[in-house]
Amino acid sequence: MNIDGTLVAKKLRDKLAVEITEFKSCHGIQPSLTVLLVGEDSASHIYVKNKVKKTQEIGMISNEIKLPFNTSQGYLLSQLEKLNNDNSIHGILVQLPLPKHIDESAIISAINPNKDVDGFHAINSGRLFNGESEAIVPCTPQGCVMLVKQHLGDDLSGKHAVVIGRSNIVGKPVAMLLLQENCTVTIAHSQTINLPEVCQQADILVVAVGIAKFVKAAWVKEGATIIDVGINRILTDEGKKKLVGDVDYDAVIAKCGAITPVPGGVGPMTIACLLKNTLTAAKNSLR
Ligand code: NAD
Repeated sequence: MNIDGTLVAKKLRDKLAVEITEFKSCHGIQPSLTVLLVGEDSASHIYVKNKVKKTQEIGMISNEIKLPFNTSQGYLLSQLEKLNNDNSIHGILVQLPLPKHIDESAIISAINPNKDVDGFHAINSGRLFNGESEAIVPCTPQGCVMLVKQHLGDDLSGKHAVVIGRSNIVGKPVAMLLLQENCTVTIAHSQTINLPEVCQQADILVVAVGIAKFVKAAWVKEGATIIDVGINRILTDEGKKKLVGDVDYDAVIAKCGAITPVPGGVGPMTIACLLKNTLTAAKNSLR
């Protein structure tokens, strides 16, 4: 069966919209998110447009700062400093990837960790690693765990979770979250030996690799819960463009217990969790 990320994300956004109305009437403050976009990358422009739309739809303020490709690192840092010092702005997101001449880690480090709604700042990674509740948790991993729970319920204790991928934005944080949920966690990656056998052990399989239809049906344990994070653009035999995940969905669906489709699985959860993080940052700003 499918795990319907579009539906779970809608329910989360509806719940957040109610909380935002309450927050505004209680405190007279409207949560606000500022997104900085550098350069002309067309996929990034589409992502940002979508984030802005969804932010406004649930009653938050959304500001967008578009900067040209040749923006210097110094100028971007000066913009961040202004946003960090502006009390009316609760969430700051710098859309990645940045142009090559800008050091991404220097930019992420310059965001006030309490406004870092992507959760990529080392302070937030450290808080997540330590299991501290005030961590702002990266959006995609947060969404992945919500989707696992949607199918398996809240208690994931003792399940064997295999995460393929060890990036700082997906693989590592999702592994930390599953560990917090008392799963036994294996992190697999490009140098893992016997990957199919490792995957066959998984009650929960999270795949964040970036290779179309990489995980085959033979790798999957009967009844496993599969979260497919991958977003890959391929050409069909008819020459049409199509989005597919990292899992060979058509072959795997008959064998697994549940799987997130691409599109309509993890993707919508990422934006919904960004909105959740922004509201949390606004609430925390009152402390
Ligand atoms: P990344 O390139 O940073 O990391 C990929 C990981 O895959 C690496 O850790 C690498 O070790 C592992 N890998 C590569 N080849 C492998 C192989 N042959 N066997 C096993 N492991 C291998 O990518 P990322 O940023 O973590 O993103 C992964 C995928 O998820 C991409 O398709 C990306 O577009 C997608 N993504 C989706 C969302 C969403 O909202 N749905 C968000 C972030 C990323």
